[in-house]
Amino acid sequence: MTTVVTANCEGCRYTDCVTVCPVECFHYDDEMLYIDPEVCIDCNACISECPVEAIYEVDDLPDDLTQWIAINAQRAPALPVCSVKMDALAGAEEKKKALGF
Ligand code: SF4
Ligand code: SF4
Repeated sequence: MTTVVTANCEGCRYTDCVTVCPVECFHYDDEMLYIDPEVCIDCNACISECPVEAIYEVDDLPDDLTQWIAINAQRAPALPVCSVKMDALAGAEEKKKALGF
């Protein structure tokens, strides 16, 4: 089992999640973060840190977000590791408000 990052992270990338992760399993591109399921130890520490509720345990994923299991597994290993907090993307606050957070 693992945790996965889903659509709410797109265009946000606040990276609060990486500050609590005990292993380096978050990876990033220009849009968002992804979790490497081979590295995640399923501690769940990151889930409550995300200000836009983008992170789920696999077993808790809503049906319309299950495609993110494969997206995280495919994208994460090919991207650089994010292990420290980064500046949020431009427009992140607007995206957060639009999502209702
Ligand atoms: S805290 Fe949430 S929105 Fe921010 S980078 Fe992590 S998963 Fe994405
Ligand atoms: S569940 Fe734990 S190990 Fe996995 S990404 Fe979140 S903080 Fe890192």
